[in-house]
Amino acid sequence: MTLHDAITPVNTLTAGPDWNWRNRFHALGTEFHTELPPQPVPTPYWVAHSDSCAELLGLPSEWQTRGDLNALAVFSGNALWPGMRPLASVYSGHQFGVWAGQLGDGRALSLGEIDTPSGPQELQLKGAGLTPYSRMGDGRAVLRSSIREFLCSEAMHGLGIPTTRALCITGSNMPVLREALETAAVVTRVAPSFIRFGHFEHFAQRRDTSALQRLADFVIDNHYPDCRDSPQPCVALLSAVAQRTAELMAQWQAVGFCHGVMNTDNMSILGLTIDYGPFGFLDGHDPDHICNHTDRQGRYAYANQPNIGLWNLHALAQGLMPLIGRDHSDAVREVLESYKLTYANAMRRRLRSKCGLSTTQKDDAGLIDSLLNQMTQERTDHTILFRRLSTFSTAEGADNGHVKSLFKDTAFWERWSVAYAARLRAENSNDLQRAAAMNRINPSVVLRNHLAESAIRQAQAGEFSEVRRLLKVLQSPFDERHDASADAGFPPDWAQHIEVSCSS
Ligand code: AMP
Ligand code: MG
Repeated sequence: MTLHDAITPVNTLTAGPDWNWRNRFHALGTEFHTELPPQPVPTPYWVAHSDSCAELLGLPSEWQTRGDLNALAVFSGNALWPGMRPLASVYSGHQFGVWAGQLGDGRALSLGEIDTPSGPQELQLKGAGLTPYSRMGDGRAVLRSSIREFLCSEAMHGLGIPTTRALCITGSNMPVLREALETAAVVTRVAPSFIRFGHFEHFAQRRDTSALQRLADFVIDNHYPDCRDSPQPCVALLSAVAQRTAELMAQWQAVGFCHGVMNTDNMSILGLTIDYGPFGFLDGHDPDHICNHTDRQGRYAYANQPNIGLWNLHALAQGLMPLIGRDHSDAVREVLESYKLTYANAMRRRLRSKCGLSTTQKDDAGLIDSLLNQMTQERTDHTILFRRLSTFSTAEGADNGHVKSLFKDTAFWERWSVAYAARLRAENSNDLQRAAAMNRINPSVVLRNHLAESAIRQAQAGEFSEVRRLLKVLQSPFDERHDASADAGFPPDWAQHIEVSCSS
């Protein structure tokens, strides 16, 4: 089927929410996008929605059910609200380290941008049909991957990690072929901008300096206004993006999140986690963990992520060079170099907090590294270890069996726990206060593959309650009420056999 055959006009409804549409991206120029409607799906139904994201958008409380809004039709791609101007944007990128040329929104459609109390937000449908950038794809997303994206977006937000948000999932029994026949779904994503490193690479590669300049001005004026005052606004932009990316990488590493496909087209210019596909959270601590079954070489393995962040920033810098000019390449090199220090400091800070240390002392790195090394050797559960560490008692003769039992090597534990207790006493750490602080940074529950998988299997059988239940849990991942629940427990044996690939 060609794109032209596929396009069915969709109705614009007479009423929508009381939103002020800005649609600034549209004004950038036709080089940046193609306007086209979403492609309808047969008899859509609700799968799940996030009240927290709806609140961000200022949607009325009864938004899902109000007849005049017909939100189900809108969020399945079967209708538009007045003010929506759907478009697919074009970008390029490096995939697995290789230049891939033109990519673009192959199955995502931006519906437009609205004002919200927390600033402008763009709405996007993912899985809404073919676009001029669909290449060999079908423009659709399956229920399985949509549930993973929806839950993880809201889970990351719950963890305090910058991310695109997700408003809702709608489903349809329309068949979609992946390895097996599955059914279609549409996720509505929300972010201040979906611009990627790959947008810059696209226009640089095409030597379209005028469009590149417009893009840089757009991003600076709307998202990084402080860079405007710099003598070199594009160097300042690169520096700001590098800082945010370094912080993001530290947040991913600290919580054991593996993205799985850190291609430059999946890197947000705002430093948000974007494009959830074959992601995973560490169960046992393993620096070499590869969450994406398609990533045979382990390019995007857990411990590689911070370096890949830097690699991707090099690609962004290349994309900005036509605007920066060779005279300033030293400044660019300095910015890229400073990423390493920003990341290292951010990661050290997070690891200290994860261990409940509120001051910096000279042997901290050694103490923390020896813990991580032991966790690596024993594949100690990353989330459970740090969560339980908050129960550590510095009292003389305390057994700390709850943490100790996580290690097979008791000699290690005897040594480490003595050093840790001494280190905590050296800053007069109060056990109760430290536990409370640690429980605000070390989550009880993360979206492990088996949790997502259980929700997906039920949803594929038509039962969405587990998706909805899990959403609520993931939105409050630090809540101590989860500690005793199965959600916070060790993964079951069958979890080892779950394979997650790029297929979505
Ligand atoms: P990803 O790495 O999954 O974010 O996607 C890489 C590129 O492939 C992007 O340009 C996507 O829009 C496109 N793509 C992925 N899946 C599909 C699909 N089913 N139909 C059309 N395009 C797709
Ligand atoms: Mg992508």
